[in-house]
Amino acid sequence: MAEMIRVMYEGGLVEISLNRPDELNSINRQMIAELHEALHEAADKEALLTELRERVRGIAGGNVGPELMDSIRTQAERFGAELVTDDVVSVDLTGETKIVRTHDAEYAARAVIIATGSHYRKLGVPGEERLSGHGVSWCATCDGFFFRDKTVVIVGGGDTAAEEALYLSRLASKVYLVFRGKELRAVKMLQDRLMGESRIKVIWNSSITEIKGNGKVVTAVSLENAETGETKELSTDGVFIFIGYSPNNQLIPPAVLMNEQGYVLTDEKCETSVPGIFAAGDLRQKFANQIVVAAADGCIAALGAAQYVEMQKAGVRSLR
Ligand SMILES: Cc1cc2nc3c(=O)[nH]c(=O)nc-3n(C[C@H](O)[C@H](O)[C@H](O)COP(=O)(O)OP(=O)(O)OC[C@H]3O[C@@H](n4cnc5c(N)ncnc54)[C@H](O)[C@@H]3O)c2cc1C
Repeated sequence: MAEMIRVMYEGGLVEISLNRPDELNSINRQMIAELHEALHEAADKEALLTELRERVRGIAGGNVGPELMDSIRTQAERFGAELVTDDVVSVDLTGETKIVRTHDAEYAARAVIIATGSHYRKLGVPGEERLSGHGVSWCATCDGFFFRDKTVVIVGGGDTAAEEALYLSRLASKVYLVFRGKELRAVKMLQDRLMGESRIKVIWNSSITEIKGNGKVVTAVSLENAETGETKELSTDGVFIFIGYSPNNQLIPPAVLMNEQGYVLTDEKCETSVPGIFAAGDLRQKFANQIVVAAADGCIAALGAAQYVEMQKAGVRSLR
């Protein structure tokens, strides 16, 4: 899934696919900021957008995510796969026959591959859900432009939070970085740049306890200092949350082994600790969460599941 940036211009909203946040270097970001300005001036906006797409680092000649998805889908269908667009609402996976239920149907299979991905972690404080999309965001490059010359609060202390704070400091008039500890986890180079940016102020040892709004937009956050217990209110127009990802493991049965963060543990065939249940992509514990890795996982899991089914048919219980 490629990151989307939305650029507003008179004709409407244009969506541009970008590389993942940790690879969005300052050149790209600067270029995007410049493009936003240029769009207001340009006579041929389409040409300008095309040029942007061509220049974005890591995207060779276009919007790679949808193209990849389309070609995988077409190829799968050519080999007889049936694609169903629906939510899986419940599963029963521990028996020899695995059951998967959607809103409208029930599917039985000898093996199942789960690739439900991951999601942005939330703060879990009052106001967060209600004001999501109304000033609360998890994507600076998607929503940053709406905060030009405004005040924003960023939550987090890792590389992503630091990078996004630097990015937003070029748009917003003031950026507060709220971090619950005494030392940021971001790499030193990013920390140095953060400290050298006059528009950014780090609020140490503090957590957001509430996001406040006037009904439609964010107006302030409530902060609590972990050391002193002191509470205060900070006025802001937006809140950007960068505190990591969590796996979408709701469908994984308790018998399947996971790590402490809830990522599924698998063997080299992407098979979990329960025979016949395979996991692929961001849901699975591994080093890098990238499209190419998820696609490779899908291939490995498919080969593993096919072998498992053949073995089952032949009456072999498990190779382990
Ligand atoms: C903002 C952002 C930008 C990124 N940019 C890049 C990039 O440029 N290049 C790169 O290589 N990687 C990028 N990544 C990482 C990449 O998107 C992931 O590694 C990859 O998409 C993981 O694929 P996946 O299939 O495991 O999960 P996903 O792509 O998240 O797909 C999971 C799918 O499962 C579906 N699902 C979940 N639960 C259910 C359910 N109960 N029933 C039915 N369906 C369900 C979801 O709707 C979703 O379609 C980016 C990630 C983010 C968040």
